[in-house]
Amino acid sequence: MNQKPLPEVKTFSAPYWSAAREGRFVIQRCKACGAYNFYPRPFCPQCFGLELDWLEASGEGEVLTYSVVYQAPYPSYAPDVPYILAVIKLKEGPQMMANVLNCPKEAIKVGLKVHVCFEERQGAFKVPQFTPIG
Ligand SMILES: [Zn+2]
Repeated sequence: MNQKPLPEVKTFSAPYWSAAREGRFVIQRCKACGAYNFYPRPFCPQCFGLELDWLEASGEGEVLTYSVVYQAPYPSYAPDVPYILAVIKLKEGPQMMANVLNCPKEAIKVGLKVHVCFEERQGAFKVPQFTPIG
């Protein structure tokens, strides 16, 4: 079982993690200005609006930049090295840092099309990550 650290769930991010547990990828959208936002926040970073909806996102994006990680930050990451840490530009606009799974380090490149997938942690949590399309 994957023993990687678990995210810290806050009141305002609980809907994100609940959806992920169900295999759904959601992001916030501001009711006042319509901006899509990531990561989960208690307010809109564009207009400081306090009313945010949770919308089912496409789960599609592309690699904006990446790094190949050779040094495991925790012992639980040791089986994964080298692994890919990337900034994903979501189809809806926001950027998100995540791992690109199921992708050899030779295949990662800027502009690579990716789709969300879910990494189970400690048998209880699912963390949105990405995997190459096709
Ligand atoms: Zn807003």
